[in-house]
Parts: sequence; structure tokens; C-alpha cells
Amino acid sequence: MKAWKHFCTINHHKMLVMKGCFKVGLYRQGLLHDLSKYSPTEFLVGCKYFQGNMSPNNAEREDKGYSAAWLHHKGRNKHHMEYWIDYGPDKCTGITGMKMPTKYVVEMFIDRVAASRNYQREKYTDESPLAYYEHGKQYHIIHEESRELLECLLHMLAECGEEETYAYIRYEVLKNKRKKDK
Ligand SMILES: [Zn+2]
Repeated sequence: MKAWKHFCTINHHKMLVMKGCFKVGLYRQGLLHDLSKYSPTEFLVGCKYFQGNMSPNNAEREDKGYSAAWLHHKGRNKHHMEYWIDYGPDKCTGITGMKMPTKYVVEMFIDRVAASRNYQREKYTDESPLAYYEHGKQYHIIHEESRELLECLLHMLAECGEEETYAYIRYEVLKNKRKKDK
């Protein structure tokens, strides 16, 4: 049954993101990540267009010409770069990416790692999230500094692995006060 499969998929994704967020000390975000996926607007679309290997939002978009579920989702979840799209502060800048708070860039990174893991399954490596990012980056509207941080983390993951990257995020990027536990 599609509804059950969709329910399991979002639970599984939330669990992966939660583990990642907890590793870097983002407990609140780990618990609240993607909660709007359980709202009827998003959940029912997820069930109807369930695919298993890609986002149901893409299928809804193909079918209807737009994805109501995605528009609902990106307007409520700050870890999506699309949440931060707005008119620039000066009159001559049109729609552009606002600078994202660091903790949401980190959540976006963890979200991408979890999604790559989900879609790639046993083919997943530390390089998968970077490859996925490279594939889509020409379409992104994101603030330069937010982009730089996201790219830095993706490259670090590909080159140095998970443990080093999560430690770097926790102690250098987020400057979490708790001492490194041995
Ligand atoms: Zn999300």
C-alpha cells in the first residue's frame, strides 16, 4: 500500500536526519526536521505519487504543472534554500537568495546526505552527496556564503569522510561548547 510505504519512507528519512543532527548537537532541528510532511497537504500527495526512488513532488509537478506539496513544504522548512528566496534588500536586486543562518545550512547538508543514502542504497559512498549536488547546482538560487559553506562540507565529506566532517561541523562551524568526548 502506497500510504504505508510513504509513511515508512518519511520516518526512515527523519531518523537518518535526526542521527546526523544529534551528532553535531542540533537536537531541536533533529526532532523537528520535515514535520510538515505529516500534514494532509503534503502527506496525501506523497501517498498518491509515491515512487520509492525519487521525490513524489516531481511526479505531482509533472502531472499538475506545479507541486502544491513542495510549495507548502519549502515555505515552512528553513533548511531548504528555497525558503530563503526573497527580493534583495536594495531596490535593484530582484528575487535572490538571502543568507541562511549557519544551523540551517548544516541541516540542509545532513538532509542531502540522508536523501542520497536513501536513493542510492548500496551504491552510496561519501562522494554521492557531492555528485548529487554537482548535478543540480546550476539551478540553485542561494546566497554566495551559504553556497560556499554547503560546498565546503560536501567536499570535506567526499575527501575526509563522515567522522571528520561531523566533528568539523560540531566544533568549528557551529562552535558547540561541549568538549570533544573521547
Ligand atoms: Zn525538507
